[in-house]
Amino acid sequence: MALAVDAHTHLYSGLAPLGMPAPEPPPENFLQILGRLWWRLDRALDERSLAASAEFYASEALALGCFGLVDHHESPESIEGSLDVLADACQAAGLRAVLCYGATERNGGDDEARRGLAECERFLRANRRPLVRGAIGLHASFTASDETIREAARLARDLGSVLHVHVAEDGADVEDARRRGYAGVVDRLARLEALVPGSVFAHGVHLDADEVKRVSDAGCWLVQNPRSNQGNRVGYPQALAHAAQVALGTDGYPADMAEEEAALLAAAAAAGDHLGHARGRAAASERLLAERFGSAFTGADRATWERARSAAAARRDAVRERARAEADRLWQRMRALPR
Ligand SMILES: [Zn+2]
Repeated sequence: MALAVDAHTHLYSGLAPLGMPAPEPPPENFLQILGRLWWRLDRALDERSLAASAEFYASEALALGCFGLVDHHESPESIEGSLDVLADACQAAGLRAVLCYGATERNGGDDEARRGLAECERFLRANRRPLVRGAIGLHASFTASDETIREAARLARDLGSVLHVHVAEDGADVEDARRRGYAGVVDRLARLEALVPGSVFAHGVHLDADEVKRVSDAGCWLVQNPRSNQGNRVGYPQALAHAAQVALGTDGYPADMAEEEAALLAAAAAAGDHLGHARGRAAASERLLAERFGSAFTGADRATWERARSAAAARRDAVRERARAEADRLWQRMRALPR
């Protein structure tokens, strides 16, 4: 049986199921969902709420049978050291994790991007936790300059790591790349030498077959996130059928990989996609994680994880209680942010 691995998620949204306020006014498109919800949540995060969020998400992930996850993090008011907060939570829980900070220029320009990349580099060099690995993150092509993308790719290569980026989740990302003079997001990443082998490109909803093949030929992964794509109404990633390596992620939804796979198969059937391909995605997530750890998981790894899972089950109520208290404080901080 494949180990359940969540190949793209956000520990920072771990408290969202505990009463996160609805966006106001109700968003009508993808960019409004980001601006009114997730980019408010990430700005409201401080170290305490982030720690509670990661602890709660990791505890629930174990309870749901998740063996490991690939996280993409942003907390613009608390960048330095944020990956240690996430790493400590995953290591303490007994959950494998690949962590990055998603560098972006959307709040603070060049300086913000530089700090995001520096956090990734610092973490990659310093981290010694046996259950955690680092990566170099970029939020998405549309919130990063050419210089930032080029620098992220250089760092990934120099440090023997990979990139983790949202790619063509919505048509707005593609339009942005075209406005900048590129044929699309993949053309932009390719010309900036950012198709680093082993990189994790989340979504690919608005890529065509040729773009997907180009990403695949470079040895990069694509990650489909069916519940999130449906929730954000961004469309179905039809071209992923042309990719050699497609994994399955939850994009911030709880790490219930059985539910995610059921959503995938329903969406694939409705879109007329190849069900055989879709069925392979959960197992591909395990290969993606093993690739970042540099070895396949052994029976002993699995036995250790089973023990961690039992221990997490015993602590689950206490963790949930801490998460509820911290969630109330976080929603207050979120409401207090200027619009
Ligand atoms: Zn995401």
